[in-house]
Amino acid sequence: MTEAIPAILEEIRAEMAARTDRGTPADYIPELAAIDPGQFGLSVVLADGSQHSAGDTAIPFSIQSISKVFALAIALGHHGDRLWARVGREPSGLAFNSILQLEHERGIPRNPFINAGAIVVTDAALAGHAPREYLGELLTFIRAAAGDEDVHINADVARSETETGHRNFALAHFMRAHGNLTNAPELALGAYFHQCAIEMTVDQLARAGRFLMGARPRLISADRVRRINALMLTCGHYDGSGDFAFRVGLPGKSGVGGGILVIAPGRASIAVWSPGLNEQGNSKLGTEAVEMLARRLGWSIFG
Ligand code: GLN
Repeated sequence: MTEAIPAILEEIRAEMAARTDRGTPADYIPELAAIDPGQFGLSVVLADGSQHSAGDTAIPFSIQSISKVFALAIALGHHGDRLWARVGREPSGLAFNSILQLEHERGIPRNPFINAGAIVVTDAALAGHAPREYLGELLTFIRAAAGDEDVHINADVARSETETGHRNFALAHFMRAHGNLTNAPELALGAYFHQCAIEMTVDQLARAGRFLMGARPRLISADRVRRINALMLTCGHYDGSGDFAFRVGLPGKSGVGGGILVIAPGRASIAVWSPGLNEQGNSKLGTEAVEMLARRLGWSIFG
């Protein structure tokens, strides 16, 4: 079946190139609003280490919320299960930047992938270090996972995120008021905005995802791999997580830059990028492309 992958990827690329309804790129910062929605890239790394790609596979894009997966791996490395006293493991059913539940739930965010939860995770990952040191650790982790040193932070994106991040500041201050932020909001958010501004190509991202498909060498324990995948399945697409699980049947984490990292446990790490987003802020064609790929290959964690 895997011999068919190059042809399937090419078919998906051609089908996506013909689409006119491509969703809308994020417009909350100029750097993302200016991106051409006509772009599309898809890459698959298999368990045997081989990689197949199609489309715009060498153009770096802003990974945004996909960075939350790597940050979670680092925070769990520092704190282990103590982290779960500060952030939950339930889908929120609300937008990624929603403030609604936080007051009811006393400053404990529902899960590590909505913004509030990711800010707590980054706050924990800082672990008493300066943001610069944490970002160095994060980049080292991602570069090791990808097997590629050429992964960087886009400083303009980080600056724009900071200038426009009023909702994130509101979330951080609210959690600080509830004693669920150990660093000053400016510090935790400085680290968070820079991690969101990391850029990668689909080729790099698919390789970086190998640590979540159970590939060796293991960067984190098999137990943590399972748990992060479970959270990606239930919470990785915010209020679109149920629909993604229904359509694709694999754990995935999206970013507002139009990227999605998808894991077929034991089989493959998949990255897709198409900048136009659907109503939940997840890549519209990216979702359709991985849905097609998973269906064609019969890849689903549900059998
Ligand atoms: N930087 C974005 C934010 O914090 C990330 C959101 C996303 O990718 N969904 O709002």
